[in-house]
Amino acid sequence: MNTKQSFYIGIDLGGTTIKTGICDGDGELLAVYEGPTEADKRAEGVLQNIELYVRELVSRAGCSWEQIAGVGAGIPGFLDFQQGLVKASPNLGWRNVAVKEILEARLGKTVKIDNDANAAALGEVWGGAGAGISNVVCYTLGTGVGGGIIVKNSLCQGFNGMGGEIGHLNVVPDSEAIACGCGKKGCLETVASATGIIYMAKEAVIRGEQTSLAAIREITAKDVLDEAKAGDPAAVQIVDRAAKYLGKSMALLSVVTNPQRFVVGGGVAKAGSYLLDQIDRYFREYALENARENVDIVPAVLGNNAGVVGAAGLHLFG
Ligand SMILES: [Zn+2]
Repeated sequence: MNTKQSFYIGIDLGGTTIKTGICDGDGELLAVYEGPTEADKRAEGVLQNIELYVRELVSRAGCSWEQIAGVGAGIPGFLDFQQGLVKASPNLGWRNVAVKEILEARLGKTVKIDNDANAAALGEVWGGAGAGISNVVCYTLGTGVGGGIIVKNSLCQGFNGMGGEIGHLNVVPDSEAIACGCGKKGCLETVASATGIIYMAKEAVIRGEQTSLAAIREITAKDVLDEAKAGDPAAVQIVDRAAKYLGKSMALLSVVTNPQRFVVGGGVAKAGSYLLDQIDRYFREYALENARENVDIVPAVLGNNAGVVGAAGLHLFG
């Protein structure tokens, strides 16, 4: 290994697992190392674990500590990314934790933080499906709908970190709006997240619709997508609704930041082209011609590694 080369460390801090990764300057992931979060040890214990895992990672990757040019962390919750402060993280049970200050003291490196969805989006743009494209919007369709907006190779965080919260784009008309966890209603997340898809499936069963979903005891989003592919009318309608509002949200964003590419990842996106083709159809129906021309919608490619790659990239793009 070239001893003069610089490397970047990314940390993906989750409620149960801390994943760390080391990238070169081109966003290539060279090694990962992970261990338990042990959230019950409170912030101080978790940050100590991070230090242990990062030092182990660097030693396993075979590079020297001096070659580490920076450390980034993707953290679930509400952050003051400029101060490097976690204001509140329900997943971790944290309030007002000065992550940047504590980790910089422990590691002796510059530390940047951002929320986990922004980090995952950045990962796809730096080393994944958006590589080489400077205007991209990434969607993560998981328990919620996360997002990241990259404009001219720079992550759009906004003045207080709410930039890119595309799960809360109000796209569902009031007449059919569902209440969102954020306290509002009609958010994209209520119809396009795994949680939203499961909710709509249960509602269809409760309404007594003729559906194969009624025979499933604990319905998952994957069940709904599988049944839709098999032609179950209720499931088809739920997926169509998710695709419609995803496509509509992309049409809105296409006249805000005019991205060249939309990258779609997360558990729900594992349905592959079945879902993406439907989203694409709605996007083209809603979007202005000049804003949709030469724009594509592609699946994410980094999977669970997007978070560490993006966190590592915070030094270059954040
Ligand atoms: Zn919401």
